[in-house]
Amino acid sequence: MLSKRLKSVAKYLEKPVFFADIGSDHAYLPCYICLKDPEARAIAGEVNEGPYQRAKMTVIENSLSDRVGVRKGNGLEVLHENDSVNQVTIAGMGGKLITKILEEGQDKLEDTRRLILQPNIDAHIVRQWLITHFYQITAEEILEEDGYIYEIVVADKVNNQPVMTRKELLFGPKLVQERNEVFMKKWHSEREKRLELLTSMKKAKQVPGEKIAQWENDIQLIEEVIHTND
Ligand code: SAM
Repeated sequence: MLSKRLKSVAKYLEKPVFFADIGSDHAYLPCYICLKDPEARAIAGEVNEGPYQRAKMTVIENSLSDRVGVRKGNGLEVLHENDSVNQVTIAGMGGKLITKILEEGQDKLEDTRRLILQPNIDAHIVRQWLITHFYQITAEEILEEDGYIYEIVVADKVNNQPVMTRKELLFGPKLVQERNEVFMKKWHSEREKRLELLTSMKKAKQVPGEKIAQWENDIQLIEEVIHTND
């Protein structure tokens, strides 16, 4: 059974589906999609031997070897020029690693119209990368599963560079408009964590002033957002 989190990622794949799932682990997502949609094709990329073998096994068990290619390699390097995948999913990693994979593999994204990303932490770093590289955030989702809160960021390639405020980068332009229950839960808890960290930062004399100022600014933004009634 696919997790609620990966089912939510799957929802944003548009037909005709030919996608690369980078860091695919068991290749559950590519197999789920290709079992549901007989026209869909996918590439499951994995850098580590264990997950790569697990991905191959899932594909064989589901008799999908003709439509799901499993490739071993770092990030987007598993894609070849003539693959022309139209969408890429990267889920279950930190925002910094997702951004690194996108940055290093930019040349492989020429035919990719949509990125569906699910950073476990640091989603703002991913959003910053997206706008800098002309991807407009077209959908976002926040959900809770087994006590963890996850964000999904969907971005489409555009011709003009999108602009985002610090508030939109931090909370997500769509999520901050909606401010649903899970969102409020996340940011109440983030506020507590950040206040604690701020106290430690101030005690540790070596933390640069700009970093403390940015942290204070973000805490103020969090308070504004969680205390707004409209
Ligand atoms: N995407 C799946 C999910 O969301 O459930 C698996 C997430 S798992 C926590 C992260 C996977 O990414 C691991 O299997 C790891 O081997 C793989 N990974 C980490 N860095 C990678 C990279 N640079 N390129 C490809 N795969 C990577």
